[in-house]
Amino acid sequence: MFMRTDLFHRISSSRSYFTEDKTMDRQLIQRAAQDILQSKKTIAFTGAGISVESGIPDFRSAEGLWQKYDPEEYAHIHAFYSDPDKVWLMLKDMFTLVMTAKPNPAHIGLAELERMGLLSSVITQNVDGLHQAAGSKNVIEFHGSHRTLSCLKCPTTLDGTSLKIEDLPARCPRCSSLLKPDVVFFGEPIPPKAQAYSFKESKSCRAVLVIGTSAIVYPAASIPIMAKEEGATVIEINMEPTPLTGQISDYLISGSAGKIIPAIVEEVRRQR
Ligand code: NAD
Ligand code: ZN
Repeated sequence: MFMRTDLFHRISSSRSYFTEDKTMDRQLIQRAAQDILQSKKTIAFTGAGISVESGIPDFRSAEGLWQKYDPEEYAHIHAFYSDPDKVWLMLKDMFTLVMTAKPNPAHIGLAELERMGLLSSVITQNVDGLHQAAGSKNVIEFHGSHRTLSCLKCPTTLDGTSLKIEDLPARCPRCSSLLKPDVVFFGEPIPPKAQAYSFKESKSCRAVLVIGTSAIVYPAASIPIMAKEEGATVIEINMEPTPLTGQISDYLISGSAGKIIPAIVEEVRRQR
């Protein structure tokens, strides 16, 4: 994956322009519910923002993990290979967050939409496993997962959830080489099956909920663009505008995912 760094910096520094809309836009929530009910196939595309209310900071947080570790420095595969001990400091902190976080009402709302037969899949850029923890079944982990680790030298894969923080950085039980969490670092390719399935879902859906992503990490950010090209309705849910807003998105519902998703689910139930 790679990041559009020019946009990254522009968006990071434009934070002061952001004013949170305190009142949820009822009309847009009704419109989203209607779009979901009318669509033959709806998918969700989620980013770090959906897990912020579970206590996992996104890349843009004013505080937290990414103030301590610049993602562009620590999240690149070259950094991992050249100084794994340094990168493992960040991975250990992320591991602790991911292993203790609980799904929030946004994750739970998406799982509910799936159970209602109204959501085909969740394509997530997140590595925290919170969609599955909330009960979503069809989850595509576009950037891998923190829950498993693989050996860099042999085919061994371990379940990370059974490891304690003191065990990290862990060594391969078979060959003693260093293990790497199965997350996609910048500079690494997307797992081919996840990419192929995601692209298929995005090309065949009629509506896509784009939730809590800055939409600047590629190729993930091409998912809503592909959907739009095939005529799907693109519904964006975010605290602030993104490069998709007004270009690719049909509309943006401003605010927190943890409030907006449950409101949409409630409205879907009401209109159904
Ligand atoms: P990002 O940090 O670039 O952007 C997060 C977006 O979420 C921003 O647009 C922000 O305005 C929005 N947001 C923040 N809080 C929100 C809320 N409560 N409700 C709705 N929107 C909210 O994240 P990205 O686009 O996912 O790209 C960063 C990359 O780093 C991805 O690969 C991502 O998976 C990874 N990452 C993952 C996690 C995780 O697994 N939880 C955490 C940090 C980064
Ligand atoms: Zn090994």
